[in-house]
Amino acid sequence: MFSDSSTPRRRIAILGSTGSIGSQALEVIAESGGVLVPVLLTSGRRVAPILELAKEFRPERLVVIDPDETHLLEGAGTAEISVMAGELAQLESIAEMDLDLVLNGITGAAGLRASLATLEAGIDLALANKESLVTAGVLLRSAAKKSGARIIPVDSEHGAISQCITGSNRDSIHRIILTASGGPFRGMTRDQLATVTPAEALQHPTWKMGPRISIDSATLFNKLLEVVEAQELFGMPRGGIEVVIHPQSIVHAIVEFQDGSSIAHLGEPDMKVPIRDALHRGQRAPGRFQPLDLIGHGTLSFEAIDGATFPALEIGKVVLDNPGTTLGAVLNAADEEAVAAFLSGSVGFLQIYELVERALGEHQPHRVENLEQVIEADHVTREQVRSWNP
Ligand code: MG
Repeated sequence: MFSDSSTPRRRIAILGSTGSIGSQALEVIAESGGVLVPVLLTSGRRVAPILELAKEFRPERLVVIDPDETHLLEGAGTAEISVMAGELAQLESIAEMDLDLVLNGITGAAGLRASLATLEAGIDLALANKESLVTAGVLLRSAAKKSGARIIPVDSEHGAISQCITGSNRDSIHRIILTASGGPFRGMTRDQLATVTPAEALQHPTWKMGPRISIDSATLFNKLLEVVEAQELFGMPRGGIEVVIHPQSIVHAIVEFQDGSSIAHLGEPDMKVPIRDALHRGQRAPGRFQPLDLIGHGTLSFEAIDGATFPALEIGKVVLDNPGTTLGAVLNAADEEAVAAFLSGSVGFLQIYELVERALGEHQPHRVENLEQVIEADHVTREQVRSWNP
């Protein structure tokens, strides 16, 4: 078995432990037979759910960034589990807890400082927070290079690409093809999209995910973020990454090499598979999964994106054309705010595109040299987008 006594235990932090990625990561940890030890759990606001997790997983420390019910935190610590609050406590815990790996499952730009702190401390980063790479990929890569830590993608497509290119020379890659399910509104017209509701947009046809990424999958902004993410992770030149719609979500990525061979990565859609791969650093650790059922699916189909109806990649062209600039932070902040406005019912689905396009159009980009620039671009964009919403 994988968990024999010769396998060293690994001290793991799960940031965003009460969210969709965090809870699936804890399922993967529970089936690791004690090899993966969750010593640090953090959450954004939710106190009651993280206290429940603490009972089950017995971490050494809990951190809640911005407690919704502060009184629940008081007196929650024990001799074995310390309980802390605030983002600084999260950053200090990353630096001082002798961690082997940090899984960043925080949603949005809120995850950026933790990603940087992890890499600066020389700890491998299993990164589900793609926003870190979109907003500050340059800073993450330079921190990783300096400390020798690795950035391990926890995104099904990027985990798939990593596996397809293992053992191949980077120069031999001709093209990367990312697949997209097309989301719940694939095949709709713009007229139909004008009246879709948040509840309809949250119904993703193939993947089980949190609210923001579900809406981003419906608009296809998720796929734009993923193309930026792939550029940052794999260093592909613009145009070397293409997107095709694949409604069954069985093929997660395809890498085409210069000799004419293409390698595809397949599996039933289940985020625990890329999470397991990342937490075990590609060691093919056993776990529960749904076997690939090709005959059950019968047909795997592929089609071009309807860019006139779902213009996310067209709107994002300016970001892809200017890598390493503050446009990444603007894209992410505008989309986060637009998605929040859509979920709260204050704007319609199509206005998400308008708000992001306007924010990118009004921004004067700068080359990213430090974290402050990224945070400034993020703040300014959020204020703008909020001011455009009645
Ligand atoms: Mg993905």
